[in-house]
Parts: sequence; C-alpha cells; structure tokens
Amino acid sequence: MLRIHDTRARQVVQLQPGRMVRMYTCGPTVYRHAHVGNLRTYVLADLVRRVLERRRVRVLACRNVTDVGHLNDTGVDKVVREAEVEGRSVRELARHYEATFDADTTALNVRPPEHAPRASESVEPMIELIAALVERGHAYALPDGSVFFDVRTFPTYGEISGNRLEELQPAHRIEAVDPRKRFHADWALWKPAEGELTWDSPWGRGFPGWHVECSAMALRFLGPSVDLHLGGIDLRFPHHEDERAQSDAATGHEVVRHWVHGEHLLFDGRKMAKSTGNVVLLSDVTAAGLDPLAVRMAFLEHRYRQQLNLTWDTLRAADRTLRRWRARVAEWAESPSAPMAGEHVARAEAALDDDLDTPATLRVLRELERDESVPPGARLESFLHLDQVLGLDLSADIGRAPVLPPGAGELLESRARARAAGDWKEADRLREELAELGVRVSDTPEGQTWA
Ligand code: AMP
Ligand code: ZN
Repeated sequence: MLRIHDTRARQVVQLQPGRMVRMYTCGPTVYRHAHVGNLRTYVLADLVRRVLERRRVRVLACRNVTDVGHLNDTGVDKVVREAEVEGRSVRELARHYEATFDADTTALNVRPPEHAPRASESVEPMIELIAALVERGHAYALPDGSVFFDVRTFPTYGEISGNRLEELQPAHRIEAVDPRKRFHADWALWKPAEGELTWDSPWGRGFPGWHVECSAMALRFLGPSVDLHLGGIDLRFPHHEDERAQSDAATGHEVVRHWVHGEHLLFDGRKMAKSTGNVVLLSDVTAAGLDPLAVRMAFLEHRYRQQLNLTWDTLRAADRTLRRWRARVAEWAESPSAPMAGEHVARAEAALDDDLDTPATLRVLRELERDESVPPGARLESFLHLDQVLGLDLSADIGRAPVLPPGAGELLESRARARAAGDWKEADRLREELAELGVRVSDTPEGQTWA
C-alpha cells in the first residue's frame, strides 16, 4: 500500500485506507490560465488517485473551482479590470478559464474528480460553516458586516507549516494590521461588499474568504473525515493552516488525516509565477510541436517533493522518450502477447508505493525497454499495465501506420549517404540517433528500412 509524506506528521506514513479514500485538492483560481506549475500539482493528485486505484481502493475526489474569494484576495480590481478589458462579466471570465483548465487537465490525462464544486455555487454551506464558528465562539462578526476567525481560540494552529502563533510576526507585509482584528493573524471569513458575485448573509451582503471556501466544500462533498488533502507547497501557510483551524473548530475533531504537498515547478531556474512574468502554459508546449503528455512525462521524471526546474530541453527530451515508447509499444504489439515481466513490474510498483518514486519507476521501464531477454509481448503487457498509473497513452500508436517523427527523415537520408560512402561509423551513430527518436533502422540487401 502507498506510503506518502504527511506534511503535518513530518514523515512518510503508510496509508491505511478502508475501501474508500476521500481526497480533496485545492482547485484552480479561474481568472487566468493555469500554468504548467499549477498543473504539476493537479497531476500529483491524479497520480495519488491512480496509485490507490491500482490497489483496488475506491477514491472519492473533490477539487473545487475558486471563482470567488481568492479572486478578490488577489486583487478584485485586477479581476474586474481583466473582465472589462475582455468585455465580459467576472462570472463569464471565470467560466472561460474554468473551461481552459478542464481542457488542460484532460490533455494531461488527469481524471476528473467526482465533485468539482464552484465556490460561487457553494456559498450556502460556507455561510452555515461561518455561522457555526460564530456560535461556537471561534469567530466574531463586526458591525461593518465582516466576520473574522479568532485564531487564538484554536491552540494547535500552525501544526502543518510549523508557523506557531506566538512566533508569527504581525504585518510582515507592507500593509498595516487591519485594526478590526482582535489579533493580527485572524483572517476574514466573510467580507462586506456589493455588486457582482456577492450574496446576502446573516451579516449582510458580501462574499466569503478563500480559506473558508475550501473547508466548507470539503465538508459538504466529502463529509467530516477527509483522508488526504493536497495542494502546492505554497498553500501550507496560511491557506491550509486556516482551513484546518476552521474545519476542526467547527466539527470538534481533526478532519484531515494527511496533508500532502507538491513542490514547486521552476522554469529556466526561476519560480513560475504570473507576478514574475515567468509563465509557460500548456498551449505554449503544444504550439512548440510537443505532445502535452511530454509535460506529464517530465513531471514523472522527478519526485513530487523536489523542486523541478523545467527547461525547453527537458520538455523536448521527455517528448522524444514518449514518442519512442509509443513506437516500441506499437512494435511489440505485433508479437504474440506474453505474461508481464513480473519482477520488473513488481519493482516499478514498489517504487510508486514508496512515496511516489516515479523516477525509479521510469528507470525500470527503460531497463525493460532494452532487455532483449524479455519477449516483446511481455514488454508490451508490462508497459500497458504500468501506463494505467503513469497515464502517458503509451498504446496510442498501436495499429497505426508508423509515421516518421520530426527530423528523422533527414537522419535517414544522411545515413543512406554515409552507407553509400562506406562510412560505417557514421551510419552506426545515425542508427543510434534514430533509435533515440523511436525509429528502428534495419539494413537489407535493398537498402535501409525503418519501423
Ligand atoms: P492557484 O490557482 O494560484 O490557487 O494555484 C493552484 C495550485 O497550483 C495550488 O495548489 C498552488 O499551490 C499550485 N502552484 C502555484 N504555483 C506553482 C508552481 N510554480 N509549481 C507548482 N505548483 C504551483
Ligand atoms: Zn484550499
């Protein structure tokens, strides 16, 4: 069974699921495109799901859509301005980016969660949760219509990130501490406002804070016990600390069993973030002629708890491997089927169970690819079996007439010339280069052929 790193426990823990695992992933903020950094986090959630499902565990997944709340945290003016520039309402803008997010995750073979609630359509449970927190003395409402969480009523605050309350410095940002708060680390559960995307509440018209959205949707769609809660590493604090405080304070028990965080993606050595202008979208990758699943492949080449510095070279290399594997799988499919290579598959699966050691899994596949002692049919079955977890569409080329990958035509011509000139060393070198692209060259009395 899967062992995975639990941020709060600060160690790798053995999951002990019953027949079902309830899993919540903090979803996208839909006022802009998700970049490939964001997508790394959603592929992580998908991988966890697939590893568990291979162990016959049913996964009930919820991934929300943040179409209100965090939008405003990130600067409502920016969102409204963006909507104006694009000539749409904020709601239309959110629907547009939700659709592009769905297209991106589909292209990455991320299985859709059972529940994908929009925050804007889940305001009722949020209001109920806030009311429960006020009633239990964990939150206070102010005359201006705002409601704050009273963090000092939750003594174990900080267990996920290690940011204990007494050590938190007030106003580490530029803006001064909001004078309405009883304590500098309290946060808004409800914010008074008028206009688009606001609702009536017992405290007046307004909208919910981002943190309370996730607590309310997780409790509403998964119930009072959540086995796994996932997100990018930046969400540890304050988002997940605040979520934990709200959910636990409202229910009176520890709601989330394990908190799992994926490390960040860098691109060309810099953090991928819109604020730094260092953003690569999945559409940029496909526009460069690469398969979207090359991105998934590049993710799998690294462990989720390590920063991954992506470059165009890494992506191109991942794309080549992907195409080569598909070509090999199609070629093996021509041979009679044979039972899986049990020892290889067992090692590859053990690596997945070992806190998702995907690079080790891919190493086993590379080994198997070259192992001529394993019958082609067995290599085929092993690759297809493991692809259920890897999600790389490795069977895509089966039955398809082989198509030369980009650049291979020129290499074949060079090789024909090298052979004609008797330059066997160069011909061998080119054969290897072609093999890297997934093209197998054979020499026949009629000249070279390829498959
Ligand atoms: P957001 O839409 O900004 O709320 O982010 C969606 C998810 O992407 C969250 O889980 C973030 O932690 C995660 N995330 C943001 N930036 C990166 C990055 N550079 N690498 C990996 N994950 C990220
Ligand atoms: Zn969340």
